[in-house]
Amino acid sequence: MHPKLEKVLQETDQRNPGEPEFLQALTEVIESLDPIIERHPEYADYGLLERLTEPERQIIFRVPWVNDKGEVQVNRGYRVEFNSALGPYKGGLRFHKSVNRNIIKFLGFEQIFKNALTNQGIGGGKGGSDFDPHGKSDNEVMLFCQSFMTELYRHIGHMTDVPAGDIGVGGREIGYLFGQYKRLTGVHESGVLTGKGLGWGGSLVRTEATGYGQVMFAQFMAEDRGESLEGRTCTVSGSGNVAIYAIEKAQQMGAKPVTCSDSNGWVYDKDGIDLDLLKEIKEVKRGRVADYAAARPSAEFHETGNVWSVPCDVALPSATQNEINEEDAKTLVKNGCKYVAEGANMPSTPQAIDVFQGAGDVSYAPGKAANAGGVGVSALEMEQNASRDKWTFEYTEKKLHDMMKGIHDDCLATAEEYGKPKDYVYGANITGFRRVADAMLAHGVV
Ligand code: GLU
Repeated sequence: MHPKLEKVLQETDQRNPGEPEFLQALTEVIESLDPIIERHPEYADYGLLERLTEPERQIIFRVPWVNDKGEVQVNRGYRVEFNSALGPYKGGLRFHKSVNRNIIKFLGFEQIFKNALTNQGIGGGKGGSDFDPHGKSDNEVMLFCQSFMTELYRHIGHMTDVPAGDIGVGGREIGYLFGQYKRLTGVHESGVLTGKGLGWGGSLVRTEATGYGQVMFAQFMAEDRGESLEGRTCTVSGSGNVAIYAIEKAQQMGAKPVTCSDSNGWVYDKDGIDLDLLKEIKEVKRGRVADYAAARPSAEFHETGNVWSVPCDVALPSATQNEINEEDAKTLVKNGCKYVAEGANMPSTPQAIDVFQGAGDVSYAPGKAANAGGVGVSALEMEQNASRDKWTFEYTEKKLHDMMKGIHDDCLATAEEYGKPKDYVYGANITGFRRVADAMLAHGVV
């Protein structure tokens, strides 16, 4: 590896103790920059790598609120504004008990390159809280969101930083957050958040975008090999917004998704997932996948193991980070899996990625490329807010399709250009890096 890259890795390792996921995400990107630094040493100059790996701003704040029993609760809120070279910081908010600075920094770092890949003029950021929405009443979620926004509002804006959803933050939470922002500022500033309701500035296709884009990406990988997803068995993990719409798009393409999961266990449905039932349980009743299995005779529920043991042609990890380890990857390859398209952020461990890439006939798309449709349509939502326009579903989905095709083709072209043909990891990292680095060089040392 280029000595400058090694030095940056060493220094970031020392400067960020106790942040394994952040260092994992960072190492993957830095390691793939070797070919571009060899050819363009200027990218290793001007402190560019040192600046790129240090967030521009990190905000950590107390979020006090009162639960339904009248007890005071204290959570911690985060917003990491990582890089604004290409546009306002853009990235979701995650509410989950595992959230800490390390997790938000890893997600924010990924977001820089993902957002660059969309070509939509958006910088990278991420935020969230260790608040766990599971089991909380609507009232508790509202009070938490209001308290969270009471601090966050001073840092965000349609030209500065535009949060959205992620795990634990969906339409309900965005509504409460937006309401409080509007109340505190006295301004109906639609473009300050994305993932809004359709009646008050939201965009059609935003709900579906991440899962739809992920499956479109898998289809483009298949087309590149002269194949298609039609008739293929897919394993999907997760059962949230990403998983549900990955299943929907896969079914529209004639594939057969047979699994889903949550933190309690996973479902194998030999007849293929009944999407109406899954949506009813998850989106209406806020239930668990065990309820799906209980209501569906062809489905089994498992408390142990995971969906990756089910033979498939296409794996669509759509739950969370590091959910596919080396053993899972080996099992997938042994069972004949040919395509992996990540809907979650960093769902495969570095060892799992090595297994996929070493297998020879597995097309592997990292999350920052395959799941970029979510944030990509968020940028389209911002565009509609700025122009006070409303686009149709068909028009917006076509834009998503073209964006995903662009990302796919850019990854392949860059991978080819830098001597790593068909390597979507190199392709995604170098394409994203180049766009951000060029803007940073143009802006000088800031
Ligand atoms: N949380 C999503 C992501 O990981 C979407 C972010 C957004 O729409 O800003 O990309």
